[in-house]
Amino acid sequence: MKRPLSLTGIPVSPGVAVGRAVLWVSREDSSPKRTLEPEEIEPEIERFRRASEAAAEEIESTARHVKEHLGSEYAGIFHAHALFLKDRTFLGPIERRIAHEKVNAEWAVSETTADLMARFRSLPDENFAHRADDIGDVAGVLKKHLGGEENSRLRMEDLEGEAIVLVADELTPSDAVRIPRDRVVGFVTERGGRTSHAAILARSFGIPAVVGIPHLLTEVGEGDRVVVDGRDGIVWREPSEEVIEFFRDRRNQEARHERSLKERSLGGITRTRDGAEVTVRANIELLSEIDDVIEYGADGVGLFRSEFLYLSKEGTEFPSEEEQAAAYRQVIQRLAPRPVVIRTYDLGGKKGARHLIGSDELNPVLGLRGVRLCFARPEMFSTQLRALLASAAGGNLRILVPMVSGVEEIRRVRTLLKAAREDVLERGIAVPDDIPLGAMIEVPSAAVTADLLAPEVDFLSLGTNDLIQYTLAVDRANETVADLFRPTHPAVLRLIARVAEAARIAKKPLAVCGEMAADPALVVLFLGLGVREFSMGPRTIPVIKEFLRGVSTQEAERVARAAFSLSTADEVSAFLAQELRDLARNGAEVRA
Ligand code: PEP
Ligand code: MG
Repeated sequence: MKRPLSLTGIPVSPGVAVGRAVLWVSREDSSPKRTLEPEEIEPEIERFRRASEAAAEEIESTARHVKEHLGSEYAGIFHAHALFLKDRTFLGPIERRIAHEKVNAEWAVSETTADLMARFRSLPDENFAHRADDIGDVAGVLKKHLGGEENSRLRMEDLEGEAIVLVADELTPSDAVRIPRDRVVGFVTERGGRTSHAAILARSFGIPAVVGIPHLLTEVGEGDRVVVDGRDGIVWREPSEEVIEFFRDRRNQEARHERSLKERSLGGITRTRDGAEVTVRANIELLSEIDDVIEYGADGVGLFRSEFLYLSKEGTEFPSEEEQAAAYRQVIQRLAPRPVVIRTYDLGGKKGARHLIGSDELNPVLGLRGVRLCFARPEMFSTQLRALLASAAGGNLRILVPMVSGVEEIRRVRTLLKAAREDVLERGIAVPDDIPLGAMIEVPSAAVTADLLAPEVDFLSLGTNDLIQYTLAVDRANETVADLFRPTHPAVLRLIARVAEAARIAKKPLAVCGEMAADPALVVLFLGLGVREFSMGPRTIPVIKEFLRGVSTQEAERVARAAFSLSTADEVSAFLAQELRDLARNGAEVRA
C-alpha cells in the first residue's frame, strides 16, 4: 500500500469528498511520449494494427447506424473515415514513425496526423480543410482504441458501488458537464484556475474540487483512496483512518450550517441592515439546475450560460430551434414571474467550438468567441434569437450578449433581433414587446466605454471572470499564473467603478455575474459602489444573502472609498480581510 501523502492546489469548490481515484486524461493530452526499447517496437506496431482494425470496425458500425437513421448521404462521411484506416499511405507513415523514432503508437498517431492536418490546412481549397477535420476525427477514434478514453470508462465501471474522485490533467467544460454526478463525489486536476469553467461547474453542482496540483498524475494512481478538502485546497492520498474521520465530521458540520442558511434564504426580499433592497440571482448552465435555483432561494436567473445546451450534447450538431425554444421555455415558465437572463451563445475561447470555427486558432481566447463567433455564423445566431423570442410569452425573459467590445456590436444584435422578431411573428407566435437587451461588460474596451454602451442597452452585467483575465493579461484557466489573477487589482477595481458610474448616470440596472459576486469581501465593495444586483452559483446564494443582511450601505461605501485609496492588490485584499473580520464580529455571515 502507498504511504499517506498530502498535495496542495487551488481550492475551487468547498466541501469534503472521500472516494477512490479514477484517472481521466483529457483527449487533447492523452498521448504522452514514451521512448521504446528495441524489443518493444514490433509489439507496438502490432498493437497499433489491432487498434486500427478495431477503429475501422467501430466507424463502419457507426456508418451502418447513420445510414439507417439519416440515409446513405451522411453515412458516406463515415465510410470515408473507415477507408483511411485501411489505406497504407495513411497507416505506413505512422508505423514508420514508431519504428524509426522508437516512440509509442499514441505519440506516433498524434504527430503524424498533426503534420498531415497542417499540410491540408495550408492548401487554398476549403475542401482540404474539411479533409483535415476528417483526419482529426479518425485520429481521435484511433487513440481511443489505443487506450485513453475507453480505458478510463472501463475503470470507472470496475469501481462499481464506490464513490469516485476524478483525477485528471484538465477538465474541459464539456467533460465537466458530463461527469456522472451520481457517482463522482469530487474532482482534482493538474491544470485550471478558480474561474475556469470546470471549477465554476464544480461549485454549481456542489462537488468539492481542487485544481492546479503539480505532479498530481504521478502521485495519485488508479484506485487510490483520496480525500478532497475543497475549502483549503488539500488532497490526501491514502489517508489514515483518523484523517478520514476528521473530514467526515467536518462534512457533517458544514452540511448542518448550509441547511440552516438555506432555510433563511427562502425568506422573500433581501435588504441590507439599513433597508436597501438587493437582488440575488443564480448562474446556471443546465436545465437540471432549475430545482437548485428554487431550493436555494434565488430571485430568478441572472445568467443562463446557454452554450451548455450545445456543450452537454453528444456530437457536433447544434440543438434545433425547437429544442432550444423548449429548453428556454422550461426555465422561463418554471421561474415566472422571476426574471430569467439568458445569455446568447458564448462559444469559442476555451469552450470548444473547433467544429464551428473550422480550424484550431492559435490564440482562441482572443479569437472568435462569444458574440463575434455568433456574427460569423449568422444562421446559428438567428436560430437562437428566434428560439429565445418564441419562448418568451408569459415569462420574464431578458437577453444578454457576451464578449461585447463596443457599441457597434449591440446595434448589430438589435438589427438581428428585429429580423428574428418579424420571422417569429409571421409564424403567428406571440412575442412580448419589451424584452430587455443587456451587454456583458467583460472586455476592457466595453468597461472603458460603458458610458457609451449604457444608453444603448436596457441593463449591464459585469462578467468579472473575463474582465480580470483580459485586463490583467492572465489566462483564467492557467494554474501557473493563478496567483496573478487578482480581483482586487486596482486596475480591475477602477474599471468596475467606471462601469458602476456609467450605469448610475444612464439609470440602467447593473448586475455582477462573475465569480467576484460570490465573495463577501468583494460584495461589500460592489455594494459600496452602488451595485444592487448579484448573480452566482445557486449554492452560494444563502451565504451572500445572509452577508448582505448583516451590512449597511454606509459601511460598504466607507469600505469602498478606503479600498480605492490603496495601490496594490495585496493591500486591498488585506484591508478587505480586516474589514470582513470586523463585520463578522458584528454578526455578519462571511463564510463563502
Ligand atoms: C464572466 O466572464 O465573468 C462570466 C460570468 O462569464 P463566463 O464565466 O461564462 O465567461
Ligand atoms: Mg465571460
